[in-house]
Amino acid sequence: MNERIIGAYKYRHFGNKGKVDKILQVLKEYRKTAKDIAKIQWNLFFKQGNFNEYNEVKNIKSKLSERYKQTCQSQLVGILESYISNRQNDFVEIVYNSSLDKDTKFILFVINKSKVWFNEKLQKAVLKDKKGKVIKELPINKYHYKLARKILKHTFKQNKFPSFKNISMNLDKKVMDIQKKKDGKAKSFDYWVSITTLEKRRPVYIPLKTNSYAEKLDGKFLNFIQVNEKDNDIEIRLVKELNKKEEYIPQTDILAIDIGLNPLFATDKGDLFGRCFKDYLIQLDAKITKRMQYLQKNNIKPSKDKKYKKLVQKFRDFLKSEINRIFNRIIEIYKPKVIVLEKLDFRSPDLSKRLNRLISNFGKRYINEKIERIKQFYGIEVIFINPAYTSQECSNCGYIDKDNRKDTHTFECKACGNKINAQVNGARNIFRRSSLGEITPYTSKKKVLQILVKQYLERYKGCNSAPCELLMNNPYYRDYLSNSKPLMCVE
Ligand SMILES: [Zn+2]
Repeated sequence: MNERIIGAYKYRHFGNKGKVDKILQVLKEYRKTAKDIAKIQWNLFFKQGNFNEYNEVKNIKSKLSERYKQTCQSQLVGILESYISNRQNDFVEIVYNSSLDKDTKFILFVINKSKVWFNEKLQKAVLKDKKGKVIKELPINKYHYKLARKILKHTFKQNKFPSFKNISMNLDKKVMDIQKKKDGKAKSFDYWVSITTLEKRRPVYIPLKTNSYAEKLDGKFLNFIQVNEKDNDIEIRLVKELNKKEEYIPQTDILAIDIGLNPLFATDKGDLFGRCFKDYLIQLDAKITKRMQYLQKNNIKPSKDKKYKKLVQKFRDFLKSEINRIFNRIIEIYKPKVIVLEKLDFRSPDLSKRLNRLISNFGKRYINEKIERIKQFYGIEVIFINPAYTSQECSNCGYIDKDNRKDTHTFECKACGNKINAQVNGARNIFRRSSLGEITPYTSKKKVLQILVKQYLERYKGCNSAPCELLMNNPYYRDYLSNSKPLMCVE
């Protein structure tokens, strides 16, 4: 894979209020124009099945120059395309898990992959082997297209269309220029950016101070900046393309990580990382809840309250830095070739609903961002496995039981007595499941249980099995056994 690694880094700016206001005006107009362009692009999509970065922008009413509109359009199309590509994945998951017959599934996959849901351009779904020989050829009819659209629209309902109300501007050379300080000039700023405004031929010049962290990173700056708004001021980010780490030599084949809250990470090798993570969150949660109560009592919107926003920001910073720190540490220690994770879901009954929501949203986002980095930087392969029952399964004997817990931290197996940290147990199950071909990320929860129960019963047929009484009192096994021949209960 030759993906590019792009990072955006904040540079402090020293533009005065007059200049800042002019850029904020541009941003406002930019967002408004983005909304209009999006409408046109969606129309194109529903007609043709794709967006067009080079669509004519002349007729779009806006105070922005033509060049600005083009810049805006290409940024937008990037966002829309990534939205659709995610929906295509949802589509595959839905069809895969459905009870449709094999051929219909195949036809739907072809329609989805070729993005012909709306224009019905294909008449046949063709499967070829590597040499180009046709293996399968099926006619696509109206019914398939209708079904495909229904599924796609369902994924739209589950995931709101991207909104451009708060986007930052990604400005390129068409509307922006950036100059580095000339050597020898002592009393000058490190960078100057000029940004086109709504007034023709009157760009504003904004001085920037360097960001030493970003400067040190191995890579090269792109002719590209991000401009966003924060508390009536602007934020400017420079964009850098980073170089891959060449010297990374894996030392561990597979490392499984269980991501939870207490600790934040556990590995199948038995280590626990971020043990104080949750305690700190509970403290912060109490502060946020208290502030929220105060705001509600006084009828103040949280978005208008500086203190509340500061607390939430503190939480986000903490979460992000912990995730980064621990991933880096784990990579440093084990140098894994493959990292196995389960689908992310952190939630804890010890935290308020609000914090659970925050941690679920931002935690997922930061972890996904970090994973992308890890893949790009080190070439580590990251695999997600099906998470069903990994917290109830014993990593020693495979027995599954809701009561396989001593307390929230300790896993204790009812069948074999294995006593182990609950998250390490989870990580070991994740590790094992990565090599279990029978269970894929798309296997339904019910089917996963069936497979695991069957495996357990087959493995422990006879003398080493759990007491019959235990199995017959466990609904997971009872249901399975009552549907099959009574092979276990001969004591
Ligand atoms: Zn066990």
